[in-house]
This record gives sequence, structure tokens and C-alpha cells, in this order.
Amino acid sequence: MAAKGDLLYAWTTDSGLAKKAECGGAVTALLKYALESKMVDAVVAVRKGYDIYDAVPVAITNPSDLDQTAGSLHCGTLLLSTFIKKYLDGAKNMKIGVVVKGCDLMGLLEEAKRNDVDMKNIITIGVNCGGSVNPTVARKMIQAKYGVDPDTVHKEEIDKGQFIIEYEGGHKGISIDELEEEGFGRRSNCRRCKYKVPRQADLACGNWGVIGEKAGKATFVEV
Ligand code: SF4
Repeated sequence: MAAKGDLLYAWTTDSGLAKKAECGGAVTALLKYALESKMVDAVVAVRKGYDIYDAVPVAITNPSDLDQTAGSLHCGTLLLSTFIKKYLDGAKNMKIGVVVKGCDLMGLLEEAKRNDVDMKNIITIGVNCGGSVNPTVARKMIQAKYGVDPDTVHKEEIDKGQFIIEYEGGHKGISIDELEEEGFGRRSNCRRCKYKVPRQADLACGNWGVIGEKAGKATFVEV
């Protein structure tokens, strides 16, 4: 049994999920277990909509639908605390598992102070966050700086200080500093953000502590 303060490497044993996931798939696997075991009634997460610029918040009740939320989308600017407050009655009548960035968690804690959400009914899984890019800015940036048609991009990631895209015909990374010097890159609030690892969540997960042969294949978990 894990105890508060434990640091772990974790990964899914589902090979299909591992392929879709960003770093080991442990977050999706944990949420799947929470749904299957009826620990929660629904899981709130984000899935890709029409394309990578369309991040859609979803409340999932069928565990097999969770795979569609695996991986990260950096060109979406959602605040899940607002989604839970407005559309799920602040989790006052149901138990929810939710994947949170630092700003989602801060939003939830503030809403809880106002009695607009019930944190007793919410299990939070925090993920480390390097920032997000306004989808309209992302499209202009990919056209102007990468010389790539934004509609051909099927994957993006932020890694080692670069914004990297994969598109039909190749992949390309440019340093975020360079992009931001030219007015592109992350939103201004993300550049100022000091809450990259949401340690107030029930678990904080991500890729920052994984070294050696497990890098990219395991999720780092702080209990
Ligand atoms: S960098 Fe901070 S403000 Fe920006 S999306 Fe991540 S947690 Fe939210």
C-alpha cells in the first residue's frame, strides 16, 4: 500500500493504451479502475474533438471510452473546475474522478471555498503542465514559423523546451523561447504560472521524475 510522500514509477499493462498515452498511461489506467470499481460515477477529462486544436471536456461513465482521453493536448485552454461547477452540479450529487492541471486544481479549491463544488466527492489526479497555446495562435504559429499547413498536423508535444509537431510528411521542433520572442507560444498566464506540478491533488503524475530506460514509458507518481 502506498503512503503519502511515496514516489513511484507506474505504467499500464494495456499495450493499446500505452501506445496512445504520453508517458506510460498510468493516469488513464487509474481512472479506468476508479470507474470499474465504482469508486467514482464519472471521470472528467479532455479528448481530441475535430482536430488537435479542438480540446473537448467530457464526463465519461463507460470505462472503455476512457482511452480516447489518453495523451495530452496543448492547444486547448479549458478550465475543468468551471465544467464541473456548471455542468455536473459541482459534484454535489455524484462522485467524480478528474485529471487536473495546476490551474484546474486552483479553480476547484476556490470554487469549494464558495461551496460551489464538493471536494469530498472529487478524486483529483494532477498532471504536470508546461503550458498551453491558444488554438488560434497555434494555427498561425504553425503556418508562419514551421511553414506547415496546420490542418496536416496530427500530433503536438512540448518537450525539453521545444514545441514539437508531427504532420503528414515529418516532424519539427522549435524552441519555445524563440516562438515567444516572436509573439507566439504559450499563453501569457502560462508563462507566469508557478504551479506546474499540482501536488495538492490526491496524486501528482507526469514525466518529470522518470530517468533511464523508463523515460517516456512510465508515469512518475507522487502520492
Ligand atoms: S501552465 Fe499553469 S496556467 Fe498554464 S495551463 Fe498549465 S497549469 Fe494552467
